[in-house]
Amino acid sequence: MPDCLFCAIASGQIPAKIVGENSRTIAFRDIDPQAPTHILVIPKKHYVDVAAVADAGAGLLDEMASLAHRVAVEEGIADSGYRLIFNSGPHAGQEVPHAHGHLIGGRPLTWPPG
Ligand code: AMP
Ligand code: ZN
Repeated sequence: MPDCLFCAIASGQIPAKIVGENSRTIAFRDIDPQAPTHILVIPKKHYVDVAAVADAGAGLLDEMASLAHRVAVEEGIADSGYRLIFNSGPHAGQEVPHAHGHLIGGRPLTWPPG
């Protein structure tokens, strides 16, 4: 999709700190980290939100979750714990209209989120 920030990151047109990849998904560090580990996991193809990824089927959401967990292991936060969050739509504060899971950890996280 033209003019999509995360499509541009997935294609390498805009640089990002890539930390992991599998065939259909990619993980990179959030530019404004909210915790010691804050990584975004995205599908390489454009889907507007997590519902569109789920509708696509064929295990794409599984691939995002398994890449997130693999990166969590590599970041050393799998045992201490982490969140994998999908902001979807205005009330959740989704700013970038390309589906992304936030992998957040490395410190105790409060609940409920704001
Ligand atoms: P959301 O509010 O769920 O749409 O999250 C968008 C996230 O993208 C925010 O956490 C931003 O800090 C992050 N972000 C925006 N631009 C970039 C960028 N160029 N590289 C990495 N992360 C970014
Ligand atoms: Zn996109």
